[in-house]
Amino acid sequence: MNSENNIIIIGGGLAGLTCAIHLLKSGFGVTLIEKNTYPQHKVCGEYVSNEVLPYLKWLDADPTQLNPTEITHLSISSAKGKTINTKLPLGGFGISRFALDDFLFQKALKNGCTFVPDTVNSIEFKDDTFSISTAKTGLFNAKIVIGAFGKRSSLDQKLERKFIQKSRHGLP
Ligand SMILES: Cc1cc2nc3c(=O)[nH]c(=O)nc-3n(C[C@H](O)[C@H](O)[C@H](O)COP(=O)(O)OP(=O)(O)OC[C@H]3O[C@@H](n4cnc5c(N)ncnc54)[C@H](O)[C@@H]3O)c2cc1C
Repeated sequence: MNSENNIIIIGGGLAGLTCAIHLLKSGFGVTLIEKNTYPQHKVCGEYVSNEVLPYLKWLDADPTQLNPTEITHLSISSAKGKTINTKLPLGGFGISRFALDDFLFQKALKNGCTFVPDTVNSIEFKDDTFSISTAKTGLFNAKIVIGAFGKRSSLDQKLERKFIQKSRHGLP
């Protein structure tokens, strides 16, 4: 499958989805390859800082439409029940990835994103073109590919990225 004028994004988490909406908004064609479907539960603390609100609003993806819970304070408690409380200077909102990822996904689709529910098995770069091999759909070619497949995915190992040799905590 050739996508000469398309940008391919691998991975439709928060990075891949916001990137897709941004590129579509800027006039690019986008094909998003994501191994899971939407909506999908993900383990997450569900706290999003208000710092990202202006950007999400610029993307026309204002999450306040989803009625998230406003978060203004942080409270840390010890096993013995002692607590420390503080006001968060910027604050944020609480929202599940189940809701947020699907919201961004629907926005990307509405803006013209081509969605391919598939797993990328390998990526090769030759003659100025990326060849992406997927489990079900086959081969995709593109000049520009964005890897938004999360941290420490099997693709990082296949691409022999150096950071994968390091431990998660930076210790040998
Ligand atoms: C336990 C936990 C709690 C967290 N809590 C918070 C929090 O409260 N607030 C906060 O801001 N951040 C939190 N984070 C961090 C946050 O989850 C990440 O920063 C964020 O998910 C990164 O987004 P991403 O798009 O880079 O990766 P991801 O969200 O991981 O998305 C990567 C996507 O790529 C897809 N993918 C991977 N490999 C392939 C492949 N080969 N082919 C096709 N698709 C593929 C995956 O299915 C996935 O959908 C938490 C993280 C963890 C682990």
